[in-house]
This record gives sequence, C-alpha cells and structure tokens, in this order.
Amino acid sequence: MSTVSGVVKAEAKHFDVIVVGAGVGGLYALHRARRLGLNVQLFEAGGDVGGTWYWNNYPGARVDVPSFEYSFSFDSELEQEWRWSERYSAQPELLSYIHHVVERYDLRSSIEFNTWVTSAVYDSKAMVWTVETEGGKSVVTRSLIMATGPLSVPVYPKLIGMDRFKGESVHTGRWATEGVDVTGKRVAVIGTGSSGAQIAPELAKAAGKLYMLQRSPAYSVPSQNRALTEEEVTSLKANYAAIRQKARRNRSCLGVDVGNQSALEVGAAEREAIYQARWNEGGLGFSAAFNDIYSDVNANNTAAEFVRQKIKGIVADPETARKLLPDSLIGCKRLCVDNGYFEMFNRDNVQLIDISENPIKELNETGIVLEDGEIPIDVIVYATGFDAITGSLLNMDIQGRDGISLKQAWSDGPMTYLGLAVQGFPNLFMVNGPGSPAGLANMVALAEENVSWIMSCLDHMKKQQVKAIEPTAEAQFEWAKIINAMSEASIYPLANSWYVGSNVPGKPRMFMSHMDYPNYVKACRDSANAGYSGFELS
Ligand code: FAD
Ligand code: NAP
Repeated sequence: MSTVSGVVKAEAKHFDVIVVGAGVGGLYALHRARRLGLNVQLFEAGGDVGGTWYWNNYPGARVDVPSFEYSFSFDSELEQEWRWSERYSAQPELLSYIHHVVERYDLRSSIEFNTWVTSAVYDSKAMVWTVETEGGKSVVTRSLIMATGPLSVPVYPKLIGMDRFKGESVHTGRWATEGVDVTGKRVAVIGTGSSGAQIAPELAKAAGKLYMLQRSPAYSVPSQNRALTEEEVTSLKANYAAIRQKARRNRSCLGVDVGNQSALEVGAAEREAIYQARWNEGGLGFSAAFNDIYSDVNANNTAAEFVRQKIKGIVADPETARKLLPDSLIGCKRLCVDNGYFEMFNRDNVQLIDISENPIKELNETGIVLEDGEIPIDVIVYATGFDAITGSLLNMDIQGRDGISLKQAWSDGPMTYLGLAVQGFPNLFMVNGPGSPAGLANMVALAEENVSWIMSCLDHMKKQQVKAIEPTAEAQFEWAKIINAMSEASIYPLANSWYVGSNVPGKPRMFMSHMDYPNYVKACRDSANAGYSGFELS
C-alpha cells in the first residue's frame, strides 16, 4: 500500500489523472486530459487498445449501430479522413478505426497494457487516490477515471463438470485471448443474445455440426447490412454534423426516425406495412416504428407478433420454428440485430436444442449431457453475456472516504449522481457508468459526452483550486428517483436481463440506466453550468 493512515509513500509516482480502460471511453479521456495539460497515465488489462473491440473479436462481431454513428465526433478532420466500408462494420474494421485514433493522437506512449488495476484507495487527508495493479505497481493520483466498460466482464454459467470437459471452451467476450478454429468440428453455442445471434451463423459456415443451445428464444431483426457506396460515403461525410445532431435529439442517441404515433392508433394493415418497411430498412430502427413499443404492453405485442410471423416464415422446419418463437415482450432484453440468424436453422449442420425443455445436466470429458442423452462436442462457445454496468467497477477493491468500499455503498444496487460520480468517492469519475444511459444509447457518443463533462470539471477544479469534488447524498437520491420513475414507466423491468442485473446470481435487481439521452445530457450540463450543483467542492 502506498498510503498508510494518510501518509502517501514518497516513492510512488504521482499523476493528476489515472484512466483505467483503453476502450473508446478511456482513450478519449486520455486524449482530453493530455490536451488539458494534465499528467495522465492509462492502465489497461488487455494486451492492446480497443476495449470491447479488442476482446470480442469473435467471427461475426459487428456493431448494431451504424458505423458512421458509432464513431468519434470531436474532430471533424478525423471524421473526414476515415472511410467506413459497411453500414454495420465488423470488429476488424472497428478495431482498425480505434488503432487509427490512437496513432493519430499519439496516445500509445501513455498506456500500460497487461496491467490489471486491483484496487484504488482514497486518502482523505492528502485527498489523493492510491491505485494498485496486479503486478504490484502503486501510483498516486488526484483524479481517477474509470472507463472500465459496461460490458467487459464475461459471465460463465455454473455447469456441473465444466472443469472436466477436455475439448475447447471459449467465451465470446474473451475470444481475443482464447479464440479457436472450429473448422469441421462439433460446436455447441450456449446463449441466444446479441453475441450468440451474431457468432452462430458464422461458426455454422465452418463447423462440422453446430448445436445452438437455447434457454430463451430471442427477438432479432435483420441488419440488412451492406457495403457503403462512394456516393453514400460522400453524402454522409458532408452531413456528419446534421446526422449527429439528429441522433442527439433521440432518446437512444441514434439517428433513427422515431415514429410519432401509437402502434394501437393505426389499422392492422397500416401497422403491418410500417413494420415491414422498418424490417426492410434493417437494424434497431425497427423498435422505433411507434412511440409506445417500450411503454405499452399491447403496443409492444404488435411488434413482437410481427417478428414471430417472420420467424415462422424464415425457418423451414415447423418444430424448430416453434421453439424459436419468443412469447415475451420485445426489446426488454436488448433486441438482437443479426445477419442470417434465423436462416441459419435451415442449414443441415445446425440443430436447435431447447434447454428449457431438455436441460443441461452436466458436462463430461467429451461433451454435454442433456436430460435426454449426451451430445459429443469439440468446442463449447459461451455466449452467456456479461456482468453488465457495475461488474467491472466492483471487480476492483475501491475504497473511498472514511474507508467505505464501493461494494458496501452499492450493496443494494448502484447509486450515482449523473452516472458520473458517487457520494463518498471524491474525484472518482465514471464513463458509461450506472445511472448514465449506458446500454440504451450509442456508447461512443455517451463516452464523449461523459469525458467532456469530466474534463470541464477537472479544468474548473484546477482554475478554482478545488481539491475534491463529490456528489451530495441528496443529489444522488434524487437521481435514483428519476431513474426509477423512468424504469417504472417502461416495460424494461418486466423481463430478466442484464439491464436489471438478473443475469448474475446474487446481483441486486435494479434497472441501472437513464433512458433519455437528451434529458440526461441536459441534466449533466445544467449541473456544470450552475457551478456543479448537486456536488460538494472542497
Ligand atoms: P470497453 O470498450 O469495454 O473498455 C473497457 C476496458 O477497460 C477494457 O479493455 C477492459 O479490459 C478494461 N478494464 C476493465 N477493468 C479493468 C481493470 N480493473 N484494470 C485495467 N483495465 C480494465 N454499443 C453500442 O453503442 N453499439 C454497438 O453496436 C455495440 N456493440 C457491442 C458489441 C459487443 C460484442 C459488445 C460486448 C458490446 C457492444 N456495445 C455496443 C457496447 C460497448 O461496450 C460500448 O459501445 C463501448 O465499446 C464501451 O466502451 P468503453 O470504453 O466504455 O468500455
Ligand atoms: P446477453 O444478452 O446477456 O445474452 C446471454 C445469453 O446467454 C442469453 O440467451 C441467456 O439466456 C444465455 N444464458 C446465460 N446464462 C445461461 C445459462 N446458465 N444457461 C443457458 N443459457 C444461458 O449477452 P450477449 O449476447 O453477450 O449481449 C450482451 C450485450 O452486449 C447486448 O445486449 C448488447 O448490448 C451488446 N452486444 C451487442 C452486439 C451487437 O450486435 N453489436 C453483439 C454482442 C453484444 P436467457 O435469455 O434465458 O437469460
């Protein structure tokens, strides 16, 4: 430890800012902190930059937000020089883009890779944080920016015999380090969320046999992905500002056209035509067809029924189609955007196994034992999701003022103000954190917004000689009320999903995200403009 009862060890290196995580959020924080003239260092657990796009390099990984929207807006020269090749770019292109940003702004020299931050302890007397890494490094910093990712901690199911299985096992969120060649092999994919729906059709092309193990059927819409033409790229580049502006007015910060009528106030034929047009257009815009899909169960069911009919129409085998039909609300779990997911089930080498009817009993050395017998398997792909939003923060031992740990502070669920800071944890800032619209909005845009706010705050602190800032308990409480009220007015709490933390055993059930990007941004900026209302500055 570098701080012992308020005494900071002299030999520890001192920084103005430590950033944790080299995804889009952390990289932008590093760039902006440097521009402010701050002495900054970034620690990243992985072997290179990219965050999500470093770890999730599984076959088929791509964005479900149009690439030109899922990009930085802070530098128009950067916008103009980068050319996106596809409407929904694949992981290699997204990673190349991030590498380009890193080289362009010369960020690499301030990043330490393969460096897992294990703890951060606040020293109330010296008003600094001591940050320690797995390798035993210890540094001291005035401010700490946690850009550790809303979807960066993989969750594995707890299956009996997992350690006995002698084949290869890999999680989609750790493909970078564990990826395998499935050519000609017998592959089992467990999980039918966005990751499972993306990876399975790609693996099926190479695998000898692919078993899709489904606990709950997923709603998925086609991406209708395609290469961008030269004319489109020219037009997009000419209109970047307007495209971003339009997105920032939407609750999701996506440039989709949001329907301005209820799904229930139009006739059945018109409704069908509207859904069909959205289906043809592809992508998440499908669920913006009407303005009450996320707030009215009956409206929601019209969209759900449309997708169910599509599944029946695509999947040739009626029994497989039946098993693939979700009967839940659509969108409560993030809507999947796929490239041939349902079509995949028409391949001879693909078999759907409904593990809600025929559960996994255990794994043995050679495969998966189901209630009705064993299937021999060479490769198990866990597409079983993430300990979302809070997982990467609670993975570290974070101790704030008066020795209170973040784990204690959040034992009933995460409490933050503006998704940016936590009472009792001075000068600790979060990017894409709980209480922000993480998971519901374009997260590059959100990261840029969060980082800009943090940098203005650090600048303000420097100019006003403020040493510590943290939210008041009242502000935090009021913020929680706003998020709860939004959640209760929506359909999201009606399903089990990572949005409410129910995919991780023992995690408190709580909707963790703000649902309205423009109002969220307004609240953040209003606080800053009012001299950081809701915060205590000392
Ligand atoms: P990340 O990119 O997750 O980066 C966090 C980094 O922090 C990681 O590299 C991690 O190794 C590092 N880290 C964590 N803890 C520590 C520690 N203790 N010490 C050191 N380093 C640490 N969002 C969208 O808006 N649109 C999409 O289309 C989209 N597609 C996605 C596809 C996949 C497969 C996944 C998993 C997520 C997707 N997301 C998407 C969400 C995505 O996570 C965000 O868009 C965005 O990449 C988050 O960036 P970030 O910098 O906040 O976090
Ligand atoms: P996810 O949405 O949480 O899906 C996990 C899947 O694994 C679910 O089908 C779940 O079933 C299943 N599962 C979990 N535990 C299981 C168990 N013990 N036994 C059997 N099945 C189990 O995770 P994800 O697919 O990785 O996606 C997470 C988020 O990342 C997405 O919502 C999205 O925001 C982002 N993402 C985006 C893209 C993209 O298109 N750009 C791609 C991947 C990820 P249940 O439903 O029954 O719980």
